[in-house]
Amino acid sequence: MTARILVVDDVPANVKLLEARLVAEYFDVLTAGDGHAALATCEKTPVDLVLLDIMMPGMDGFEVCERLKANSRTAHIPVVMITALDQPSDRVRGLKAGADDFLTKPVNDLQLMSRVKSLVRLKNVSDELRLRAQTAQTIGLQELARVDRPDEPGSVLLVDGRASSQERLTRALKPIADVAVISEPQAALFEAAESSFDLIIVNANFDDYDPLRLCSQLRSLERTRFIPILLVTEQGNDERIVRALELGVTDYITRPVDPNELVARSLTQIRRKHCNDRLRASVQQTIELAVTDDLTGLHNRRYLENHLKLLIDRATTRGRPLSICITDIDRFKRVNDTYGHDAGDDVLREFANRVRATVRGADLACRFGGEEFVVVMPDTTPEMAAIVAERLRLAVESRGFDIPQAATVLNVTASLGIATLRPDGDTAEALLKRADMALYQAKNGGRNRVVAAAA
Ligand code: GH3
Ligand code: MG
Ligand code: MG
Repeated sequence: MTARILVVDDVPANVKLLEARLVAEYFDVLTAGDGHAALATCEKTPVDLVLLDIMMPGMDGFEVCERLKANSRTAHIPVVMITALDQPSDRVRGLKAGADDFLTKPVNDLQLMSRVKSLVRLKNVSDELRLRAQTAQTIGLQELARVDRPDEPGSVLLVDGRASSQERLTRALKPIADVAVISEPQAALFEAAESSFDLIIVNANFDDYDPLRLCSQLRSLERTRFIPILLVTEQGNDERIVRALELGVTDYITRPVDPNELVARSLTQIRRKHCNDRLRASVQQTIELAVTDDLTGLHNRRYLENHLKLLIDRATTRGRPLSICITDIDRFKRVNDTYGHDAGDDVLREFANRVRATVRGADLACRFGGEEFVVVMPDTTPEMAAIVAERLRLAVESRGFDIPQAATVLNVTASLGIATLRPDGDTAEALLKRADMALYQAKNGGRNRVVAAAA
């Protein structure tokens, strides 16, 4: 993971120390000796994370943080405040100033690295989302563009063996999350797999159960693999914490639990989960929009042209047959001319439904353009393709098409051309061409029929 981190501290020795540790982990480090320099750096260079000292002459860390968060160009940069251990009130002020996390002086290496990595990961995801939102705006996909939504409440599963801490942690989390509590780790695993939580907090306080076992199980189950885990553990148990982080635990917090720290760390993880979920949904949506025909919901021509090549390669290497069918609605122009374009659209939608209902799951059905549709049938010989095509022809002819637009039922027929892949270096273009010629013959032969191209 590479990221650019800005270290802000008025004491040069502190800057040097943090810089050396971060550089050793291959981070790219910038430094600033006061608040003004820090703000100037964030304005003119892309920064992925700010480590911010509080006590500085002139502008203190709180003000720097407030200004960063108030500026739309820098508001998305995560800020970690470095607070003194004996000043717990600093944490509350830091949170109010918009800080994303805290580190306590003297800064412990393990904390530094786990927190920096966690926040950089979160930033990477949200950067990606922002980029997509920009693209979405330029191509007018408004629903993809909603990135800067306020925090939605998270849903948290708290796994905790003791009633007293259950009560305390739940109370602390109440303002930011709905919390479900479970005392028994194995029951928690099932619950986590059944529901969809944004964060699982595991309090390592069981009498005779190793909490890392639960963490490892959560990481291996498909349904829970991507849910962040926050481990609550003893102080000074660094070896165990390293082990936990290696197992995939996302962050940790040591006892006694400071409620502010718990809230800050939980919020970071919940945001990250929400961000990831949105990113995944937007990828899905982008893919679907790019390859789907709006009117019928079938795949579009672009998708067919890409995917047919892959299917042909696979059929060729495996020595399997592959057939395609092109179908064109007969005298479709008349439907538009007589009943209007909207009625024509109804026919196309219903036609697509019948295609979908007729072909197998492994077949690829596409709207090739206008009133032409293509079905690609892997593992299908010419004889089987002829049977499928005839079934499709009948599925269209045998039942009238309901046209709500024109309050009528129309009789529709289609002509179909089929062709089968040749074993000798056949191409997608040549295959489509042969099927198209067969379709042309079907039209010329009187329509409402299936014609197979010569092998
Ligand atoms: P043939 O039996 O020879 O195929 O005659 P046809 O009328 O079906 O063929 P032609 O290619 O002359 O006309 C196709 C019509 O399909 C013309 C076009 O306006 C219409 N069309 C193409 N796309 C759409 C669409 O998305 N919606 C509607 N309603 N009509 C469409
Ligand atoms: Mg037609
Ligand atoms: Mg046509």
